[in-house]
Amino acid sequence: VVQYIVGVDVGATYTRVGLFSPEGTLVEKVSFGTPRVGGELAVALAIARAIEELLSRWGGSLSSIGVGTVGPLDITSGDVVGAPNVPIGRFKIREPLERLFGVDVYVVNDCVAAAWAEYLVGAGRGFRNVVYVTISTGIGGGAVVDGHLLLGKDGNAHEIGHIVLDLSGRFRCGCGGLGHWEAIASGANIPRTLEVLAREWRGEATEAYTRALGGNLNPEELFRLWRVGDRFAEFAVDFLAEVNAAGIASVINVYDPEVLTVGGSIALRNPDFVEISAARVGNYLINRKPSISLTPLGDDVVLVGAALISIKLPRELLEVVRGASRT
Ligand SMILES: [Zn+2]
Repeated sequence: VVQYIVGVDVGATYTRVGLFSPEGTLVEKVSFGTPRVGGELAVALAIARAIEELLSRWGGSLSSIGVGTVGPLDITSGDVVGAPNVPIGRFKIREPLERLFGVDVYVVNDCVAAAWAEYLVGAGRGFRNVVYVTISTGIGGGAVVDGHLLLGKDGNAHEIGHIVLDLSGRFRCGCGGLGHWEAIASGANIPRTLEVLAREWRGEATEAYTRALGGNLNPEELFRLWRVGDRFAEFAVDFLAEVNAAGIASVINVYDPEVLTVGGSIALRNPDFVEISAARVGNYLINRKPSISLTPLGDDVVLVGAALISIKLPRELLEVVRGASRT
């Protein structure tokens, strides 16, 4: 009987569940919209249904489950506490999945899982200092420093999306804070940022400007209009690239990585935008510039990392798990 590993990526918008061989090869993945209504068990139950579906198709049994989830996290309980981009802000993951499947379940921040994947099998393979940054619905990161996976007291050592990059008071974050990187440049907040920029715009009334002023210019349309030369879109993308450059540089200044990779839907769909942002980090750096590239693992980086967390358990997580009372 094959003993499969399950990797789960709980994103703000989509949840992906993958069945992996014991060696970590992806067998099949399914995805669904992350539940937006329901109680603290809704997300875990949706994950459980997807696992059952995969197991019924492939047979075999489960040996462990690794989960990378939007944060913030209580890493000792395996609960998500107050996620700014998920309507069910608080929900349980580890306890219900352990109860339903009777296997060990390891829960980490999604970008921690991604950093672990990058370090073991991605662009960071062979390096000891690897940072992963996601630019998606939210902005987040994970870091391996001197070969150590950084976790923090609650598993939130690298909430880099909440680095403060603006002091003007114009950008309020989903977490409640002011001027956070994510408040300005994440997918969820770009439409509001564009509205702020449109109110200050003194140039011509372009299509992007008019739509931004109405608060309904989404990132996809912004980048489309940017590519066809809309002047307001050029101004806005320039501003967002500068913000991302400052954010990425701040992360490099703190963790001093050899390799920094970028993933997440906004980045993966707009490699040219990432390139412009990366080219500007020099304006804000003190540390030696690392290699900066898109993650070679693409959309699967968190899923693969989540599976790898449970296959090659980081000793830092083992210490946390041992320290907490587990049944
Ligand atoms: Zn914030």
